[in-house]
Amino acid sequence: MRIAVIPGDGIGKEVMDAAMLVLEELDLNLEYEFYEAGDEALKKYGKALPDETLEACRRSSAVLFGAAGETAADVIVRLRQELDTYANVRPARALNGVKCLYPGLDIVIVRENTECLYKGFEFELDNSAIALRIITKRASERIARFAFELARREGRKKVTALHKANVMKKTCGIFRDVCRNVAKEFKEIEFNEYYIDAACMYLVMNPYRFDVIVTTNMFGDIVSDLAAGLVGGLGIAPSANIGEKHAIFEPVHGAAFDIAGKGIANPTAMILTACMMLQHLGFTKEAEKVRKALEDTISSGKTTPDLGGKLKTKEFAEEVAKRLRE
Ligand code: ATP
Repeated sequence: MRIAVIPGDGIGKEVMDAAMLVLEELDLNLEYEFYEAGDEALKKYGKALPDETLEACRRSSAVLFGAAGETAADVIVRLRQELDTYANVRPARALNGVKCLYPGLDIVIVRENTECLYKGFEFELDNSAIALRIITKRASERIARFAFELARREGRKKVTALHKANVMKKTCGIFRDVCRNVAKEFKEIEFNEYYIDAACMYLVMNPYRFDVIVTTNMFGDIVSDLAAGLVGGLGIAPSANIGEKHAIFEPVHGAAFDIAGKGIANPTAMILTACMMLQHLGFTKEAEKVRKALEDTISSGKTTPDLGGKLKTKEFAEEVAKRLRE
């Protein structure tokens, strides 16, 4: 199986090197092919997402992506649309050994990935700027079904839809109605809904009331960073973009230029992202093995500075790799 690997910009390169160091410890029949995209690609080739990279992504079994800087909209947002990876899955799980606000928390945010305000339909008119929010029945239905199927597959008990249908009556109205209908097909899974603003408060005060969250694109983007903060921050938050034919795996964090080049980025999010890829490709045991090695390393006090430790990105990855060898 071919994997298109795109390290990208900023800490993307550093955390990708670290993840590759860990993946190389596994005896898997995967071919990693490296491609360019992002701010540097734009400077070099005049295109943030070069055609060669896009084509390679189309013919690969999965895409493993690091981060894009200023060009993120032209790279990762476009890639998600081109490959129609409509479901963005962002688990917020407290890891053993990571000090966080909510130990033991384990929720999954399923974010619609192809429409809403992030469609990018913006224009100027006189002295105003206008953005179009597109919400379709089709996309709402497939994301709602995806969330319930994920809940069923992972033995989860509840799906919560987040929207603002009292204000955005038409767009959020469609999303809410579709979620309610799909919920009827999954009788064993509890369904409820909150307005997005109230949900943010509940997430901060008592996130244990959530299990699987399903929501539209922009709300999902915001709420998943919030949820990452509940379990220890962006350094440990992985994500997957899943479609019918393609899948892209990327950490929730971006290029983080403030810490890029210092070798201190936490590669945990990237390594957990690689685990999501392994699981998607059927390598469940290997994914579990890596997760365990990762948690054992962190629990032993060996961490990067964002988690209070002293290790550099590469040193941390070497520790994880060492545990895999043992
Ligand atoms: P984007 O706008 O694409 O989300 P960004 O560069 O503005 O990207 P993020 O990369 O999402 O911001 O991260 C915000 C901050 O969190 C960073 O500036 C950095 O300080 C911290 N951070 C993010 N990822 C990591 C990481 N892997 N390890 C340590 N700190 C991180």
